[in-house]
Formats: sequence, structure tokens, C-alpha cells
Amino acid sequence: MISDIYTKYTAFEQEELLEKIRISTSEKRFKHVLAVQETAIILAKRFGGDVGKASIAGLVHDYVKERLDEELLRVVYENNLDKEIIAFGNNIWHGVAGTILIEEELGVVDAEILQAVSVHTTGSDNMALLDKILYVADFIEPNRNFPGVEKARELVKVNLDKTVKYKTKHTLLRLVENEAKIYPKTINTYNKYVAN
Ligand code: GDP
Ligand code: FE
Ligand code: FE
Repeated sequence: MISDIYTKYTAFEQEELLEKIRISTSEKRFKHVLAVQETAIILAKRFGGDVGKASIAGLVHDYVKERLDEELLRVVYENNLDKEIIAFGNNIWHGVAGTILIEEELGVVDAEILQAVSVHTTGSDNMALLDKILYVADFIEPNRNFPGVEKARELVKVNLDKTVKYKTKHTLLRLVENEAKIYPKTINTYNKYVAN
């Protein structure tokens, strides 16, 4: 029998977990996380990753994206997370603070899954295979529709690292274009996977 990844990596059966995530997210985001789950499974199979961990990571990665800022900031303070994060917004908080709430509320304790969720937005200068799978799956899932996504979908048919590089460069370019504040980890990812 195939082991049940839901009870293996979370405190819930599949149906209960999906319902918890569904009521915590908008319809659009719920559709997104299901699509990231499917995409992460495909990438894990293609690149020899852990399919069960990729599946759960995809499903839970944006679990707290729709929480109030106050709640995510409370998590940052109460858990002594890096204070540098405070000057950023939900876009940067939801992955890092997400790991705490995903553990507390969903019972996810696997260190590799939590790390992949933690860095899914910014990447890091030392990405494990699961980190790369989630980072890329989030970018290319079938509901994504932005200039450049087709190129990323072509790249990932052959090379995961080149797709990590592509996403990182694409994200940085957009952030600079918008004069957005760049989180240091995002720059570290750029220096590791993009810069020569
Ligand atoms: P989503 O949660 O599925 O929408 O996707 P992500 O978690 O990957 O990204 C959320 C947003 O954060 C995207 O719009 C990214 O461009 C943005 N983002 C990524 N890195 C940085 C950064 O260093 N600084 C800022 N301000 N935003 C970032
Ligand atoms: Fe996200
Ligand atoms: Fe996402």
C-alpha cells in the first residue's frame, strides 16, 4: 500500500487538511495551492525529489498568506524571527511566519518541508532540491499567466537549476522596476544562482 502522505506529514487526513486550507484561503488561492501541489509532484518525479514532501509543501506553502498583518507580526515577535523581516510586508512574512503556523495548526514538523515553505518566496543561497521544486512550482503552476511564464515552463522540462535562475532574475527585474524593497535573502539567491 502507498503510505498516506497526509497522515505521515501532517496531523490530518487528506479530506480534513484540504478543508482546513480551503477555509483559510480565497477561492483563487485555494486553486493556486492545489495547482502548486500538482506541479510540485510532477517536478519531484522528474528530478528525483521526494514526491510526498513536494506534494505537502505545495499544498501548505501559502497557508497564512491571507492572515492579518498583526497576526503574522505577532508570530515574528513571539518566535524571535529575524527582525529584519519587519520592514517588509506580507509578501515576505507569509513564508517565514507560515512555517510556525503550519507546524502549530497543521502539525507539519518535517524540517525539509518547513524549510521549503520558509524560502519559497525569496529562495536562499543554499537551496535543497525540495526548496527548488517548490520555488519553481509556485512560479509555473498552470494558473500563472505573466509574460515569461511560458519560457520558464519550457526550461523546466529539461533543467531545474536553469529555471531557478530564470525565476530569480525575473523576480529581481520586476522588483527593481517597481522600486520595491529587496529582502537580503532574495539578493543572496541572485548572487548564488544568477550572477556569474
Ligand atoms: P505567491 O505567494 O504565490 O503569490 O508567490 P510568492 O510567495 O513567491 O511571492 C509573493 C510576492 O513576493 C511576489 O510578488 C514576489 O515578487 C514578491 N517578492 C519576492 N521577493 C521579494 C523581495 O525581496 N522583496 C519584496 N518586496 N517582494 C518580494
Ligand atoms: Fe507565497
Ligand atoms: Fe504561492
